[in-house]
Amino acid sequence: MQIVIIGAGVIGLATAWRAAQGGAAVTLVDPAPASGASSVAAGMLTPVSELSYGEEPLLRLGLASRDRYRAFAAELAEATGLDTGYRDDGTLQVAFDADDLKLLDDLRAFQEGLGIPVEALTGRECRKAEPMLAPGVRGGLLAPEDGSVDPRRLAPALLAAAEGLGVRLVRRRAEGVLVERDTATGVRLDDGTEIRADRVLLAAGPWSGDLAGLPPGTVPPVRPVKGQVIRLRTPVPFLRRTTRGLVKGSSVYLVPRADGEIVIGATQEELGFDTRVTAGGLWELLRDARELLPGITELEFAEVTAGLRPGSPDNAPLMGPTALPGFYLGTGHFRNGILLAPVSADALAAMLLDRPVPAVAAPFSPARFPTEVQ
Ligand code: FAD
Repeated sequence: MQIVIIGAGVIGLATAWRAAQGGAAVTLVDPAPASGASSVAAGMLTPVSELSYGEEPLLRLGLASRDRYRAFAAELAEATGLDTGYRDDGTLQVAFDADDLKLLDDLRAFQEGLGIPVEALTGRECRKAEPMLAPGVRGGLLAPEDGSVDPRRLAPALLAAAEGLGVRLVRRRAEGVLVERDTATGVRLDDGTEIRADRVLLAAGPWSGDLAGLPPGTVPPVRPVKGQVIRLRTPVPFLRRTTRGLVKGSSVYLVPRADGEIVIGATQEELGFDTRVTAGGLWELLRDARELLPGITELEFAEVTAGLRPGSPDNAPLMGPTALPGFYLGTGHFRNGILLAPVSADALAAMLLDRPVPAVAAPFSPARFPTEVQ
């Protein structure tokens, strides 16, 4: 089986690795691997803390992926010798004022109703768990099994693992999908060369809607959703685990890494393919982060970046075959692509190789958007 994958972000990379393990000859096409959202993302693995009303199938997919992460990271380390920065030390979600606490209480009732274990903490207990928290923090929720990974370590590890199994990386832009006799037969690159394949997977993040040659109805309904993040550095431990906060109704998170990096994120902006960093975006993040953790103003500033999440109409990924035989989608992972990489790779590789697909992936078929995709 010859497979060509357009896009080497975490989704394309992880799927290439799994498909190669399954015996396929895989070519990855990307002019700049992992240059999209996968290089900006904070790397939270927090399906429980991110639970939203009406997104229960996405929660189940997220839990299935989170539960694969320890073995996934270990397998990558074993194959490549590279550390992904994986941590499973839980996520603390805290409330700044009484209204924020009410929102957290509602979330806890929803989580518990779905049978998910979370621990309610008083303000004092939150500060015991995270001593740098502001004295005014009202209370919080601990999701003990959520965690994080460093996407900037994960992507190179995935690429090394994939290349170690013979995956070929072509550093060019895919311009279009080749279609012959109503079947996808490969990809045309920006230098005019063609790569033939039995199956084509489109995993180009928010750019997945831009490819030429797709018949009407097979263009995925994805859009870019901008997010700005700040990276700080600390020489001494500052936070023990991922800490998310509600501050007067607005959300902020801080993700610590073992090497002293702290990622603060993230804005959510519908501005098309705009990746400018703005004063207002940074101000909002720093304002809310400082309310929760006043000591952050002492930390060294390292970097600020903006990336584009691949948003979909229902905030969930599109994974699977389309109405064009041989042409598959693996995109639309929106806020959760790092979390969802292990389960998405398992599901997409199984689909591409005609093997049994994990049942938890069934609700994410592109066919659920009949007017756009089928
Ligand atoms: P991308 O990572 O965007 O990769 C797409 C790739 O396709 C790129 O390498 C690009 O070069 C390539 N490409 C584009 N066009 C073409 C073409 N024509 N030909 C060939 N290649 C092409 N997720 C989490 O799970 N946890 C988080 O904490 C988290 N935080 C985030 C914070 C921010 C600020 C942002 C922006 C995102 C965050 N995400 C998080 C979401 C996550 O980053 C994305 O869901 C994930 O990176 C999507 O991966 P992808 O492989 O689909 O796309």
